[in-house]
Amino acid sequence: MYYDELSPAFERFVEALDTKKVAVIGHARPDGDCIGSQVALSRVLRGQGFDTICVNQDPVPGKLRFLCGEEPFVRPELWKPGGHVSVCVDCADADRPGPLLKKRFPEVHANVDHHVSNRLFARQNFIDSSSAATAEILSGMFFDNDYPIDKIAAQALYVGIATDTGQFRFPATSQRVFEICGRLLHLGADPAVASNHLYERETMGKMRLLDAYLSSLKLECDGRVCVGVLPKDIFEKTGAEAGETEGLVDYARSIHGVDIGVIIEDRGNEIKGSLRAKDGRYRVNDLAALFNGGGHTCAAGFTVHMTMEVFYPKFLAALREQFRVVDAANYEGKDDGGRSGV
Ligand code: 5GP
Ligand code: MN
Repeated sequence: MYYDELSPAFERFVEALDTKKVAVIGHARPDGDCIGSQVALSRVLRGQGFDTICVNQDPVPGKLRFLCGEEPFVRPELWKPGGHVSVCVDCADADRPGPLLKKRFPEVHANVDHHVSNRLFARQNFIDSSSAATAEILSGMFFDNDYPIDKIAAQALYVGIATDTGQFRFPATSQRVFEICGRLLHLGADPAVASNHLYERETMGKMRLLDAYLSSLKLECDGRVCVGVLPKDIFEKTGAEAGETEGLVDYARSIHGVDIGVIIEDRGNEIKGSLRAKDGRYRVNDLAALFNGGGHTCAAGFTVHMTMEVFYPKFLAALREQFRVVDAANYEGKDDGGRSGV
């Protein structure tokens, strides 16, 4: 058994459903774990006799379309739920699917997620914050319950896990991750095909965006934080798409001596931020929470209605306070490095 408590509870949930129609809901600006989890859950439930559909506020990013097969993805404005049970994946709180979906599905029946900041907003919550990906939890629950996983679902689950572990590098990359991925490969998942689609098809726009981001990098907090800012008109200037900011922040974090890397999109009266820490003890999810966001101890994000002038001093003060608290805890030797909570 991979999930002693979640797997039997998930089976009971599936068996007790009094309708055969399920909407699998992802979060706004979906990533690999979100789309992979949606595709897999939709296909596996269909295999169990359900009529399923995937619903997202934002379109599936071009790079992830190879995962979807014939899986129906719909946008909420083009679709009316017809007595569907709603299951959210990879969503830490009721707002993550986006305002349109929240309105359309005021009540969420189930929620499968791995965020430490999960608010348990559904009727039934299948949460494990020790897991590297929502796709890892789903894989484990499918294996534990002997639900058949076809080749497309196996590839989708593999990509969810591979992307959320940063290609098997982040601290949550456990023995269970490799065991599960081994079984997914046995079922047809193909790492080479996945990495070709994900990492060998960059656009020139993305390269120009990377150039702009790297040029903007600045050290803060005695060199422990590296911040890069993308101005409002950067997408028109570079020809990049909004989703192509993904992964840029890793360059800021990768610098020797930097504990936290940051990317900030300055949208005029709104700031979108992504935070990446080298170590879970910095708990960037707590920092993000100060600005309306959340996430994991090593990877978190937020969107806040503020101008850069108002935001930036507040942000620096929050960072300094976080270092003060974390350094003090560390000095007293009480900290476990946050690794248990990643
Ligand atoms: P990213 O920085 O790539 O947008 O997100 C990093 C992590 O933080 C992801 O796991 C994502 O789910 C979470 N995250 C990003 N933005 C938000 C937000 O606005 N609210 C919450 N609760 N989590 C977020
Ligand atoms: Mn995830």
